[in-house]
Amino acid sequence: MPAYLCKCGSRVSVGRIPCEHQWNFISDVDYDRYSGKFDAEELFKEMKEFFKCPECSRLAFFWQGWDAEPVFYTEESK
Ligand SMILES: [Zn+2]
Repeated sequence: MPAYLCKCGSRVSVGRIPCEHQWNFISDVDYDRYSGKFDAEELFKEMKEFFKCPECSRLAFFWQGWDAEPVFYTEESK
């Protein structure tokens, strides 16, 4: 998935490594399993990611995998 189409019409490129539009996160429950150890690669595999559109700041989450449409989140004021 080198790019996705944001709701604002922008095509957000996500193919670069590291990707400037990508944010990685992990649930608190999953993170708790890493207490006392640190393996960056193992932790990275466990993390999910979202992307932030550089034009409108909408966040795109691919909760259902890369082949499904992303779920977009935006600030309530927008
Ligand atoms: Zn956008």
